[in-house]
Amino acid sequence: MYKISNFKRKKLGIFPTPFKKLQNLSSKFNVNLFIKRDDLSGVGVGGNKIRKLEFLLADAIDKGCDTVITIGGAQSNHAMLTAASCRKLHLEPILVLKKRGVTDTKGNLLLNNILDAKIYFIDTDSTSEVYDEAIKLSEELMKKGKKPYVIPMGGSNILGTLGYINCAFELFKQADEIGVNIDHIVCASGSGGTQGGIIAGVKLLDKKTKVTGVMVSPEKDFEKKISNLVNGALKLLESDICINEKEVVLKDYVGPGYAIPSEIGTQAIKLLAKNEGIILDPVYTGKAFGGLIDLIERGYIRENENVVFIHTGGIPGLFAIH
Ligand SMILES: *Cc1c(COP(=O)(O)O)cnc(C)c1O
Repeated sequence: MYKISNFKRKKLGIFPTPFKKLQNLSSKFNVNLFIKRDDLSGVGVGGNKIRKLEFLLADAIDKGCDTVITIGGAQSNHAMLTAASCRKLHLEPILVLKKRGVTDTKGNLLLNNILDAKIYFIDTDSTSEVYDEAIKLSEELMKKGKKPYVIPMGGSNILGTLGYINCAFELFKQADEIGVNIDHIVCASGSGGTQGGIIAGVKLLDKKTKVTGVMVSPEKDFEKKISNLVNGALKLLESDICINEKEVVLKDYVGPGYAIPSEIGTQAIKLLAKNEGIILDPVYTGKAFGGLIDLIERGYIRENENVVFIHTGGIPGLFAIH
């Protein structure tokens, strides 16, 4: 098999991220709850996209690119973290964002300003239209002699997915060191690279761990998209393993809509803050952690099982809502 370490990677983050037991909530819910602090990944204000960007931006530099274009919603954590990572590597960041949801210069929009990223707002709700705009922009820049590199939504392509295979390896090593056998891993799933990478990592390590993605936006054929990322990454690593889309487990906790706070999410933010002093965000991790608690209460996660929640970051989102 081809090793991940054979792929070019720019060291951007601070890894391994901490892995800790949530003692107070574990006692409260009679499960062994652990948290993987990818919110503390060390660039910008932290978050899961750094692991993907280490591979994507290494590829950009390897291809001789000088400019990086990426897309997202108005408050995209991925776009902001791309801008921050680009600054570190002397690449020029350009963000093509959906205009919907643009508020004052708050949250990630404030950070994008501080990072001096060039932003184009597109008046649409459609991701494919934003992506088309990014491609058009990239072609214009090429005519001007620039070398742009386009990163898709959330950094979730096959190369980006390698970042979360690495996270799975890192996590199982940390769990082994304290003698914990992980029964469940739960994370928010947005563009799918995080969950996809973890599923691929679990397969490569031949573990029985159940990986559950919490949906925070309505997506069609999301299982298919994630299984394509898993199988693409496994193939890139020359593994013979291949999964069926039915093996991708997703639970819907979208609530009223993408980036609109939900009751379960808001309760979960307060629960983790009041019991453990850890802060979640309203768009991704609050809903995901709320989903996890609900899955314990419904018996999907059983008493005394070992459960790891991946804290994927998103803190700026807290400062962008009303
Ligand atoms: C992007 C993001 C996610 C979702 O990760 P994907 O790899 O896109 O599925 C989860 N949490 C936060 C805070 C994010 O910014």
